[in-house]
Amino acid sequence: MERYNIITEVGDGTFGSVWRAINKESGEVVAIKKMKKKYFSWEECINLREVKSLRRMNHPNIVKLKEVIRENDMLFFVFEYMECNLYQLMKSKGKPFSETEIRNWCFQVFQALSHMHQRGYFHRDLKPENLLVTKELIKVADFGLAREIISEPPYTEYVSTRWYRAPEVLLQASVYSSAVDMWAMGAIIAELFSHRPLFPGSSEADEIYKICSILGTPNQHTWAGGLQLAASIHFQFPQSRCISLSEVVPTASEDALNLISWLCSWDPRKRPTAVEVLQHPFFQPCFYVPPSLRFRSTGYATTPPSGLGLKGLWTRRMLGDTLWGL
Ligand code: ADP
Ligand code: MG
Repeated sequence: MERYNIITEVGDGTFGSVWRAINKESGEVVAIKKMKKKYFSWEECINLREVKSLRRMNHPNIVKLKEVIRENDMLFFVFEYMECNLYQLMKSKGKPFSETEIRNWCFQVFQALSHMHQRGYFHRDLKPENLLVTKELIKVADFGLAREIISEPPYTEYVSTRWYRAPEVLLQASVYSSAVDMWAMGAIIAELFSHRPLFPGSSEADEIYKICSILGTPNQHTWAGGLQLAASIHFQFPQSRCISLSEVVPTASEDALNLISWLCSWDPRKRPTAVEVLQHPFFQPCFYVPPSLRFRSTGYATTPPSGLGLKGLWTRRMLGDTLWGL
């Protein structure tokens, strides 16, 4: 750790505190996450979810883990540094974000999710604090709860912050999947428009109550599986009628509202995949750029080449590979 100058604390989360630091040799600014728990062997560290999942993911919209250091039984993760998280940005910015800003961020996040889900991982704790921003670039961070899709159910341990938690998790389903990330994204997109959480439940029961008061009580048609889940834990859904999302998120366009309600479908099987989301009309202004025309050899750029008359020329057909948000 003496290779780094520690500057300031930038975050204190569930599993560790995060510090801004500078690599003395290269001058590079990094974020160092010091884990709260002690680690007495390397094996223990290598098996951590955050290490296992991040090592397998290399994507421009997933925060890069540069090194893992174990010193005096303490564990440090060294990440590339990002300026702030999306929650801080919402709090600090007086006026609402424009739809273009929201579209650009979300387009990048869904590319990261498509990459992650296709590689068999889901995040499980998506929320504004875990999306890190530097200028127009956004990256998914905090893989402390990430899980392999093929890993053995039941999934019973602590999962995700309540306000972004999918209903099947609230109803204690023992098997769930990447659709929980899609639900969280619906809630996050709505919040980016209104600067207010969509479902700010004060307890798990209140969380379900808040969801019912917007989506309406689920029924055989909207979520038969949910009725079974509820019956199995002797839970009775509160009775509510659905309201129009435009009342709750009045500044969002029709396309945005349509996407939010698709993502926040009661039934996880009815939610879109990340690849489907990228083809939604909300992302119409975002283009796919073929690898041969990428102008950065190391990977992906954040802005498209200008003046090439891209619109309509390149399609979003090869989704899941390389995409740009405008
Ligand atoms: P936890 O598992 O404890 O929630 P996180 O990885 O989410 O830990 O980090 C907590 C906070 O620290 C984040 O919400 C963010 O504000 C800050 N942070 C984390 N990683 C970085 C980074 N790479 N660059 C800048 N800030 C970061
Ligand atoms: Mg976090």
